[in-house]
Amino acid sequence: MLRTVHTVAAWRALRAAHHAAGRTIGFVPTMGALHAGHATLFDAARRDCDVVLASVFVNPTQFDESTDFDTYPRTLDADRTLMAAHGVDVVFVPSVAEMYPNGTAYTVQEDAFSRELCGAHRPGHFTGVLTVVMKLLQIAGADRAYFGEKDWQQLQLVRGMVQAFCLETEIVGCPTVREPDGLALSSRNVRLSPAERALAPQFHAVLNSAPDAATARQRLTELGFAVDYVEDIDRRRLGAVRLGSTRLIDNVAR
Ligand code: AMP
Repeated sequence: MLRTVHTVAAWRALRAAHHAAGRTIGFVPTMGALHAGHATLFDAARRDCDVVLASVFVNPTQFDESTDFDTYPRTLDADRTLMAAHGVDVVFVPSVAEMYPNGTAYTVQEDAFSRELCGAHRPGHFTGVLTVVMKLLQIAGADRAYFGEKDWQQLQLVRGMVQAFCLETEIVGCPTVREPDGLALSSRNVRLSPAERALAPQFHAVLNSAPDAATARQRLTELGFAVDYVEDIDRRRLGAVRLGSTRLIDNVAR
C-alpha cells in the first residue's frame, strides 16, 4: 500500500528500517500531474529496487514565470492512484518550508552547460532544478534515482552534479514516452487549446525530419510555433517552442 510522508524525519525513519533490512531504494522525483511518462520511471524503479520512493513537489525556485508556477496542474489524488498502480511504496510530499528551511540562501549552481539551451531562455531555472534535486537526493538516500530523457539537458546537469559532489546515488535515464502522434507527454500538455494540440505533434516531426537545426527553426516558425531554440549537440537535436502560453521541449537522436 502507498504511504504518504510529509517530512524529512518521517521518511528517514522508514528508510532506516529499510536499510537495516538490507533493502535497496529507488527514487523518482516529480512535480506531480503524473502521466504515463512518469509511470515508466516508477516501473523502472520497481524492476530494479526493493523499495520505490517518489516525491511530488512543485518546486517554486525553478519557475522563471510566476504564472507558470501558479497554474502548474496539481492533481495529488489522481497522482496517488497512478503511483499505487505502478508499485510506488512511499510518496514524499513536502511543504516549501520543509524543503527550504533557510530559504534560498544555499543553492547549487552550474556555470557552463546550464547557461545554454533552456538555461539561456529561463534565467535561474537550472539553479532551481539542481538545488532541489540535490536536496531531494540527500533526503532520499536512494541507491538509484530515475530521470526522463525528455528533459535531456536536466538529465546531463544532474549527472554532472552527482559526479562533481561525489553523490552515491546512481542516476538512471529513461526514454521519452510519447502520444501515438509523437507529442512527448508533459504535465503542461493539458493547457494546450484544441488547435494548439492539433499542431503540437509537428514539433517532434520537424525535429526528426529537418536536415539541420536552422531548417527546423524555419519550418517550425512557418507552422506557427514561436521558437526559443533548436540546436544540434553531439548526436542529439534539442528544441524548445511556445504555442500560445505553453512551452514545449523535446529532443531526438540524430
Ligand atoms: P516533472 O514532473 O515534469 O518534473 O518530471 C519528473 C520526471 O519525469 C523527470 O525526470 C522527467 O524527465 C520525467 N518525464 C516527464 N515527462 C516524461 C516523458 N514524456 N517521458 C519520460 N519521462 C518523462
